[in-house]
Amino acid sequence: MEHVYFDHNATTPLDERVFEAMVPYLRGRYGNASSRHEPGTVARKAVNAAREQVAALVNVQPSQVIFVSGGTEANNLFIGGAASCLKPAQVAVSAIEHPCVARPAQELARHGWKLRKLAAGRDGQVEFADVDEALKAPTGIVSVMLANNETGVIQDVAAVAERARRAKAWMHTDAVQALGKVPVDFAALGVHAMTVSAHKIYGPKGAGALIVDKRLELRPIIHGGGHEQGLRSGTENVPAIAGFGAACELAAARMGGLAPRLEKLRARLEEGLHGLGAAIFGERAPRIPNTSYFAFKGIEGETLVIELDRAGFAVAPGAACSSANPEPSATLIAMSVAPEIARGAVRFSLGAANTQEQVDDFLKALKAAVARLRSMTAVVV
Ligand code: PLP
Repeated sequence: MEHVYFDHNATTPLDERVFEAMVPYLRGRYGNASSRHEPGTVARKAVNAAREQVAALVNVQPSQVIFVSGGTEANNLFIGGAASCLKPAQVAVSAIEHPCVARPAQELARHGWKLRKLAAGRDGQVEFADVDEALKAPTGIVSVMLANNETGVIQDVAAVAERARRAKAWMHTDAVQALGKVPVDFAALGVHAMTVSAHKIYGPKGAGALIVDKRLELRPIIHGGGHEQGLRSGTENVPAIAGFGAACELAAARMGGLAPRLEKLRARLEEGLHGLGAAIFGERAPRIPNTSYFAFKGIEGETLVIELDRAGFAVAPGAACSSANPEPSATLIAMSVAPEIARGAVRFSLGAANTQEQVDDFLKALKAAVARLRSMTAVVV
């Protein structure tokens, strides 16, 4: 049975047009983009064309795009690379960051930095009052994500960036989940660095970029032949980079039509969820249009995800539950959600190929799964 895929925040299918753009560089055009001969020049041209496509989607100059292997590496490059140019001070990151921001920030504590988590409110948005409080201490680095991977809640990054700049800190945003879903304009956000990733926008796994303000001082975390303006050594992954460029162009072309369509499907889903008595996290805050994060009291998210998988639907449990770590989602705990509710969290994330019929079928399957799990609990208790 073909699964209906509602887990696009984890990864997206590779778009056919993106695949076609990659094929030549997987077959005949195998040159090393650093080589001076013709095959190398062909590869270099592909990397530069992709750099222009990525730059156009986020409104920057191509030279501001540093290609890396993905979102995780871009976040590590910013935090590790900026920190090594600064005297240890405070690093302030929101309490709802992805682990690939939270962990490198934590790592800085081993090098004399002081980690400060910025609080989020019940709606899932970072609280300005806490940002103001935090920035009273000397701060070198601030990082607040543009859209949260679990709730989909959009943060007012521009407002945080304004405060960070006043405090003379470098400001970064992880825009991995926002890109391709809502307009992302680097200059309008006022940040010094921004992370993007290809495989969340119908591109291939293994490509991403750190977008940088030219004034940002950064040291590489991977040393070698000096590729990517010295900031990321290693032979460029030309097919993946070409695919990333094509995915950015595709995102720009279809976002205007796709976003309202997905928002409508999500509204239909959430009407059904309310009818079934679910709690929906971050519902009243601005959100990316494809994401819904919900829980049913007394039902483990992990159990519900397995039931739905059996019924042919792919959704995700609250982030931390999917790892070896049985703790409830740190994002939900930061939003003051009670742990017993947080343990029920299920993330539903739509993509370009989903239809209304699939959403309706999902709601039917969900209703049946919830009823079955409730009846089982009733017997046990
Ligand atoms: N940042 C956010 C918000 C994410 O959701 C993810 C992936 O789940 C990443 C970073 C990591 O990106 P990548 O998978 O490209 O390393």
